[in-house]
Amino acid sequence: MRQRFGIGYDSHVFVDGRPLVLGGLKIDHPMGLQGHSDGDAVAHAVIDALLGAAAMGDIGRHFPDDDERWKDADSMKLLSEVRRRVIAASYTVVNVDVTVITEAPKLAPFIDAMRENVSQALGLPISAVSIKAKTNEKMDSVGQGQGLQVLAIASLGGA
Ligand code: MG
Repeated sequence: MRQRFGIGYDSHVFVDGRPLVLGGLKIDHPMGLQGHSDGDAVAHAVIDALLGAAAMGDIGRHFPDDDERWKDADSMKLLSEVRRRVIAASYTVVNVDVTVITEAPKLAPFIDAMRENVSQALGLPISAVSIKAKTNEKMDSVGQGQGLQVLAIASLGGA
């Protein structure tokens, strides 16, 4: 089996008046993430990692943000759809690893629920989905709490 890797990155700005959704989980927090969809930066970074590993473009190509169909979209549904497209192109999803960089909220209590959601969307055992969280040590805009960043890598087999 040939193995392929892809990286994904996403960042969103924190704004008042939106729910915070990460890894398909609604997290109690005074601010949420700005975005055309639900702003789920974990889902978006994993989508780009999967598409990158398959050399199938990026999230913007598959789900244009000027398309009303994706307004306030549930990003976990987009993630499932990307899994479907990647499998249709003869790949299998092997594992994903994610790092969320944010000063707040502390994500440790939510990590396993996010892993469960992502593993279900990808049809993977939870042991194939890693999610980690760090702060930016108060440096720069993320460290000042203006937004958060997510890094992801995905491994595919086949083709
Ligand atoms: Mg995004």
